[in-house]
Amino acid sequence: MTEATFGNVANAASGSLARWAALWIGSAGLLIIGLQPILLGAVFSEGRLTFDELAIAATLEIIALGMSSAVAAFWKRRVRMQAALFLCAAALFNLLTAGSEGAGAFILWRTLAGIAEGGLVAIAAEMIARAPVPERAGGLFVILQTLAQCLLAIAFSLSILADYGSAGGFEVLAAVSLLSLAAVPLILAAYPPLASRSGGVGFLNRISGMALLAIFLFFLFIGATWAFLEPMGLASGVSGHDVALMVSTSLATQIVGAMIATGLSGGRLTFGAVIASVLASMAVCVVFLAQPGWTMFGAAILGTGFIWLFVTPFQIGLTVMADESRSTALLVPAAQLFGAALGPLGASLFIDGQDARLVPVFGLGCLALSLLSLLRFRTLLVRRSAREKAEALAAPRWSNWSGSVRANPENLLQPMDVDALATAIRTAPGPIRIAGSGHSFTPLVETAGTLLDLTAFSGLIRHDPERHTATIGAQTRLGALTPLLAGIGHGLPNMGDIDKQAFAGALGTATHGSGLGLGAYHTQILDMTLVDGRGSLRRLERASDPDLVHATGVTLGMFGALTEVTIQNIPAYNLRRRRWIVPIGDILDGFEAFMRGHRSAEFYFIPFSGHALLCTIDMTTDAATERPTEDDEESLAILKALRTGLLRAPWLRRKLIGAALRRVPAEDYVQAWQNVYTSDRRTRFNEMEYHLPFEAGATALREIITLAETRFPEVYFPMEVRAVAPDEFWLSPFYRRETCSIAIHHDAAEDPTAFMREAEAIFRRHDGRPHWGKMHNLTGGDFATIYPRFRDALEVRRDFDPDGRFLTPYMRRLLGING
Ligand SMILES: Cc1cc2nc3c(=O)[nH]c(=O)nc-3n(C[C@H](O)[C@H](O)[C@H](O)COP(=O)(O)OP(=O)(O)OC[C@H]3O[C@@H](n4cnc5c(N)ncnc54)[C@H](O)[C@@H]3O)c2cc1C
Repeated sequence: MTEATFGNVANAASGSLARWAALWIGSAGLLIIGLQPILLGAVFSEGRLTFDELAIAATLEIIALGMSSAVAAFWKRRVRMQAALFLCAAALFNLLTAGSEGAGAFILWRTLAGIAEGGLVAIAAEMIARAPVPERAGGLFVILQTLAQCLLAIAFSLSILADYGSAGGFEVLAAVSLLSLAAVPLILAAYPPLASRSGGVGFLNRISGMALLAIFLFFLFIGATWAFLEPMGLASGVSGHDVALMVSTSLATQIVGAMIATGLSGGRLTFGAVIASVLASMAVCVVFLAQPGWTMFGAAILGTGFIWLFVTPFQIGLTVMADESRSTALLVPAAQLFGAALGPLGASLFIDGQDARLVPVFGLGCLALSLLSLLRFRTLLVRRSAREKAEALAAPRWSNWSGSVRANPENLLQPMDVDALATAIRTAPGPIRIAGSGHSFTPLVETAGTLLDLTAFSGLIRHDPERHTATIGAQTRLGALTPLLAGIGHGLPNMGDIDKQAFAGALGTATHGSGLGLGAYHTQILDMTLVDGRGSLRRLERASDPDLVHATGVTLGMFGALTEVTIQNIPAYNLRRRRWIVPIGDILDGFEAFMRGHRSAEFYFIPFSGHALLCTIDMTTDAATERPTEDDEESLAILKALRTGLLRAPWLRRKLIGAALRRVPAEDYVQAWQNVYTSDRRTRFNEMEYHLPFEAGATALREIITLAETRFPEVYFPMEVRAVAPDEFWLSPFYRRETCSIAIHHDAAEDPTAFMREAEAIFRRHDGRPHWGKMHNLTGGDFATIYPRFRDALEVRRDFDPDGRFLTPYMRRLLGING
């Protein structure tokens, strides 16, 4: 949660009268707290209720107030309607109280009034929680409400109660509620939801629970002490009249306490101020317990009043420390009111007849427990911040796109030229790896030693307009390369699904698109320049030494750091792309014809649907038409929702997906090559892709579909099926065979292991070769059997990197290199 978020809300409110209006409405709800003793005193004097009945009415009203303030805190919409409703309800129940006869009705109306008053308090609590400095807003709130209570108490004492009795008092309260309706249009119409704290430790965690407990216990002390001041005074030889005088005088110290707290708030004093208040209150209890004379008794009352309103704003700050979402702060009034209401009840257990001498003992007990809660709060808070610091330190310095591979290399270097690169390879702590754009799912880039970022080796270096060859910085991202090539009239013959990879990164894993007549990116290589494991610059030319380029073109980042590549392009061209939905059975039956029938053909089988989305791309001389906006991400979200909601009802899932697919419109457009092949993939996933002999593709796919639909209902990502042309590169999965590539994807937040292990067994049975950059479990021995020239490629690697500078533990396992 950022300051800015609060700032925005606060600004929206503070420029206007909204904040003060909300604070006033909350104060109207709390008027009863200051006036209850006077009003109920008058009811008692008039003989309307007994002392016990009044005690029940008072306690129930405050408890209802506390509970309703907590519940209403979750009402964030139509706030004005809420305020108007609760103000009218408060007015109504005060009027009903005024005219009530009998204890039952009186208690009922007071309880209902408490509910309405709680709703009003929640409105102020929301505004306080959202203020830039909640303690300060809380301080202003207690000052405002105390002053309002004070003024009304004076008016009640001077004339209202004498002239109109307790009924007149409740009628005045009703009038105040109705007049407060004028403030309603000024408050915010709705409160946006409070953000949850990053890391998920937000509302009502263990720490905020401790804070609320400490506040509740403190208010048990306040409630008990305030309720029994008169009997405690009598025990100390202070008359009831004098105690009343001292209580009235304490209003001044209360306001001073609130003002000082408001002035001090916003700093780092919160916890210290709360602890100091508890300790000072314990001292006050000791004074009461000692049954001192008039002066000390009076000083203890004034002190209690001061501490009471001094600590209240800091208690809000305490909950904000615990829960930065500030949701817990909304419960502070409830904790305070519950404490204040239950305090007298708890203390009454200690009173023997009229003897209230043990009330301070009860108070001391509550404060001691409050202190313990605060200390526990502190310990938990310190532990949490230590844990967060440790987590921040442990955050990886490098992670791949899906988040499945994380690395903390000792060194992250960004050499700016070939000399710096050579020096880094010679001298930096190993093992050394080179980062592309991190779009591989296997730990090819992971290292604990040095990770090289070769971004400086990017851009178009030169080109031949006749032969359509271009020399590029090896690290040029595909997305940056396409406009550069289009600008000189070149086209890449084919592309994969995205354009985020670095060109050298794509060469690193034999990245490919689809098309039985189209090779992967590495087939475009004419020359390569790299700095090998000894720090020597090498230039490899396909024309003069084809074997060497075929050995090293699928690089796995193990021959050296590529700096430049010359590639064979074709003249820029237009493409026509079509997409439409077809039953999977139809595609599989006519698999070969479909794949061979277009320059580029691929399809996405949608699990639990019986259908696939076909996509064909063919060259055209037609003029460009508008490219429709893609809603692939939205479709994925729907597939996920159906998966999650209908995990146990696959028949319904099939039906709903089928119905949705029937409405997918066919797509047909013409665009320049650079606008057709790739799209954005925002939903994170992990992926396994195996390259199979083309003729095995349809059978293998049927088996994979059966596996997913019978054993893994959690699968919802479409399976991608493509075709790739054979080539001569030794480590190419397309080495000397026409290929059908099948890719399965799994939500990045879910564990793909079980599904992928079983799918891998199927792929391997069909003589599959894994994509080097996608999840698989193969190691050196396996590759030696599936790549005829694997060992020859390792010999070349030894020549390029005899000291194993590029060999991490993963690379050693992958290649089967020991020692
Ligand atoms: C959303 C998404 C879509 C994808 N779509 C396809 C697709 O359609 N077809 C496909 O085949 N694959 C696809 N992939 C896989 C991806 O294309 C490959 O994993 C590719 O290698 C990633 O390129 P990169 O730049 O991220 O390289 P990285 O993953 O960062 O590195 C890959 C390898 O290249 C090496 N390397 C990087 N730069 C150099 C250099 N200058 N010199 C020497 N070695 C270097 C690295 O050391 C590493 O060994 C996709 C991946 C994702 C996440």
